[in-house]
Amino acid sequence: MIIKYFVVGALALTIVSGCSDESSSNTAGSTKVDQSASTVADVSKTKIETKTIEVGKDYHSFGNPESIEVNHLTLDLTVDFSKKVLLGTAQLDFQKIDPKAKQLVLDTRDLTINDVTANGQPLNFKLAKADSFLGAALTIDIPANVDKVVISYQTSPEASGVQWLTPEQTAGKKHPFLFTQAQAIHARSFIPLQDSPQVRMTYDATIRTPKDLIAVMSASNDPDTERDGIYEFSMPQPIPSYLIALAVGDLYFKSMGERTGVYSEKGILDAAASEFSDTESMLIATEKAFGPYSWDRYDLLILPPSFPFGGMENPRLSFITPTVIAGDKSLVSLIAHELAHSWSGNTVTNATWRDLWLNEGFTTYLTYRIMQMIYGDERFEMEAVLGRQDLQADVDSLAASDQIMAIDLRGRDPDVVFSNIPYEKGALFLRELENKVGRENFDKFLLGYFETFAFQSITTEQFVNYLEQTLLKDHSTKLSKQRIQQWIFEPGIPTDAPVPESDAFSVVDQARNAWLSGAIRATEIDSDKWVVHQWLYFLNNMPEKLSQEQLADLDKAFSLTHSKNNEIAHSWLLISVNNWYQPAFKRLHQYLTSIGRNKLVKPLYKALSQTPEGKVMAQKAFNEAKEAYHPLTVKANEGFVE
Ligand SMILES: [Zn+2]
Repeated sequence: MIIKYFVVGALALTIVSGCSDESSSNTAGSTKVDQSASTVADVSKTKIETKTIEVGKDYHSFGNPESIEVNHLTLDLTVDFSKKVLLGTAQLDFQKIDPKAKQLVLDTRDLTINDVTANGQPLNFKLAKADSFLGAALTIDIPANVDKVVISYQTSPEASGVQWLTPEQTAGKKHPFLFTQAQAIHARSFIPLQDSPQVRMTYDATIRTPKDLIAVMSASNDPDTERDGIYEFSMPQPIPSYLIALAVGDLYFKSMGERTGVYSEKGILDAAASEFSDTESMLIATEKAFGPYSWDRYDLLILPPSFPFGGMENPRLSFITPTVIAGDKSLVSLIAHELAHSWSGNTVTNATWRDLWLNEGFTTYLTYRIMQMIYGDERFEMEAVLGRQDLQADVDSLAASDQIMAIDLRGRDPDVVFSNIPYEKGALFLRELENKVGRENFDKFLLGYFETFAFQSITTEQFVNYLEQTLLKDHSTKLSKQRIQQWIFEPGIPTDAPVPESDAFSVVDQARNAWLSGAIRATEIDSDKWVVHQWLYFLNNMPEKLSQEQLADLDKAFSLTHSKNNEIAHSWLLISVNNWYQPAFKRLHQYLTSIGRNKLVKPLYKALSQTPEGKVMAQKAFNEAKEAYHPLTVKANEGFVE
C-alpha cells in the first residue's frame, strides 16, 4: 500500500488486555512460520527489547490456522446499496493440521452471523464479545469428516473495510459506488475468515449488484463482461486475506497494453489511461530485472477521490487514488509502487504486521529501481532524495520504539505501523546492501529471494536467516551481521547510511537561497524547466516562517494557490496555513472537502489544529467532508477538530 500515513500521536492507542488469550488455541502450538524460522530464534532474543515477542505469532488475529487452516473461500454476496450492506454466504474449505482439532476460529468485526452449516446441517457456533479493534472471534464446532463450512452473514453499514459512496460522492454523480480496503485487518469486517497475512487462500466469488453497475475484484476480471448484475470471479493463486478486494460502480475499461488496462468511471477513463500509459513498460522492465510476473493481468482501478490511500496493491487489480492524475506523469511512481508489490508483498508476504517492512521496504526499493529503468537517473535521484527527507521527518517525530523496522505492535492497532519507517528506512537498508555488494550481485540475491519464498508468508527472522546464508556468506568482508541487526532491530538511521543526492535539486537550492536573501524576485527564478519534483523540493525546504510579502510574491509568480498538481497544492497550502496566508484559504477549504487521501489532508488538519482560528476552519471543512471521507480518514483526523 502507499499511504505514508501514520496515526501515532493523533489517536489514543487502545491497549487490549488479553487479545491473544481469548483464542486459547493461538497459544497451543507454534505456527508453521515459527517452525521454519527456528534457526534464527536467537536474533529476536538478543535484539528485541521486548523479549517475550513470539516470532511469527500474529497478535492481530483470533484465527487458529495452526490447528485448522482455511485454504479456499467461496463467496456469494449481494450488494445492497439502500441498506449499505453486503449479505450472503462465505464457504470456507479447510484442512485440519491437527487431526484432533474440533473448532475452527475465525475473525469477524461487526458482522451479523445468521447460521453456519456443513453439508446442509446446522453447526454450533459462538460469537465472542468484540474487542475494540480486533473485532470478535467466531468459534465453530467442527464434526469429524467435515472439511468445509458455509456461513450465512451480513455486514454492518459501518463496516470498517467497506466504503459506500452516494452518487453525489462520485465523479459521474449518477450511480452509487462501493469499494473495500482490507489491509491491515479490515477483511474481517466484510468476510468471516482467518484474517492473518500468514493464511493464504484461493477464492471464487459471485457478486450480485444493481444491473447497471459493474463489479470488479482482486481476481480474474473480464473487461468485456455483460452488465447483467451477476459477476463471477476466480483467484487461482493463494493470497492472504488483506488482498481480497471488491469494488462496484459505473465502471468502464480501457486497455493500455497486452496485459494492462484501467477501470474507472467514464469521465476520467481517458485521462487515467494516458497518465498511466507506461504501466505495460513498467511491467516488462520489472519482469526482466526481478523475475516473472505471477498474476496474469495487471489492471488499475481508479477510485473516487475519497479513497483514503495512494494505492492498494490488490493483486491483478491495484486500487489507485485519482489524486495522482496530474496530466504529466509526475506522480506515477505510485503505479510503480503498486506494481512492485506483485513481487514483494503479494508473492512474498509479511507473516505478521510486525514484518510489514518486508512488504513495504522491498516495494519502495523496487519502486525506485522501476522509476530509474523507465524514466532515467535524474528522476530516480530526485525521488530518492525526497524519500530520504520523508524518512528523516518521521525519525525526528516518532518515538524511538516506532523507528524500529521490526516494530512491536502487541496491543496496538496495526494501522499505526504505516509510517516511513517500514517504507523508506526499509528501502534505504536495501540500498546500502546494494551499494556494498554491487547491483549485479544484489539483483541476483533479490531474484533468489523472490523465487525461494514465492507464495509464502515470512517473518523478519526468516529473511535475516536467508540473508546470512546467501549475501552475507558470499560477501562476508563487505557486510556485517551486526550492521544488519542495527538496521532492522534498532531505532534511527545508522550512521553512514546512504545519502541520496540529486544535481537537479542543487539548482533549486541556489534559486531558493537567492530568493530568500532578497537578491532576486520570484519572477526572476529560472524555473521554466522545473519538473514537479523540483517544485516539491523548492517548497518543502522553505524556512518555517515566511512573510506575507514573500508568500504573495511566490503566489503571484507561480499561481501556487491554483496549482492543479495535488502534491504541489498540498505543499503550498501547508506553507499557507503555517504562515496564515489568507488568500489561499478558499482553495484550502475546497481541497480538504474534495480529497479524502489521508496523506494529503492529514498534515493540513494537523497544522490547522495548532491555532484556535485554524481549528475553526478545520472543523468547518471536516464537518462538510466527513460524510464522503473513508472511515480511516475520519479516524485519523477527528482528533484535530475536537
Ligand atoms: Zn505499499
